Amino acid sequence: MALLPIVQYPDPRLAAKAEPVVVFDDALRQLAADMAETMYEAPGVGLAATQVGKLIRMVVIDISEEKNDLHVLVNPEITSRSEEIKECEEGCLSLPGLYEKVKRPSFVTVKAQDLKGEFFEMQCDELMSVCVQHELDHLDGIVFIDHLSQLKKSRAAAKLAKRRKEKAREEKAKRENR
Ligand SMILES: [Zn+2]
Repeated sequence: MALLPIVQYPDPRLAAKAEPVVVFDDALRQLAADMAETMYEAPGVGLAATQVGKLIRMVVIDISEEKNDLHVLVNPEITSRSEEIKECEEGCLSLPGLYEKVKRPSFVTVKAQDLKGEFFEMQCDELMSVCVQHELDHLDGIVFIDHLSQLKKSRAAAKLAKRRKEKAREEKAKRENR
């Protein structure tokens, strides 16, 4: 197992569309295991392959508090969405420290394959629904702030850039005090 570097916004890889998985082999299972480890370590509740620089359609999700309910979704597809919309605050490991409210359908049904290529279906509500939609967006090159108005999005991007600068300054100060 290995921790993978998480691609940071606005890296162009986060805007790329991922390719379907066609081979279900040990390399795929290893990548899923490494992605799960990276997600737990971050910590986060979801991670898409595109966020670790692999442009394939796979995501890992675990919204449980105990971190013992891992879902690996290969070639996931949303097959139905509720008309009901809910607004929820979202964050992303590729845009750390940024939290914004995003409107999405409250309930979705997802069809996906597991690591052996077997198909399964999931009915998602609450946080699972938000998380699945957020992660699947990544496979199509969409990050959560893309759902905001242009004005809110540029404000969010500016906030992120400022936070990053502050963090770099803090780290530099830490290094110099050593
Ligand atoms: Zn994300």
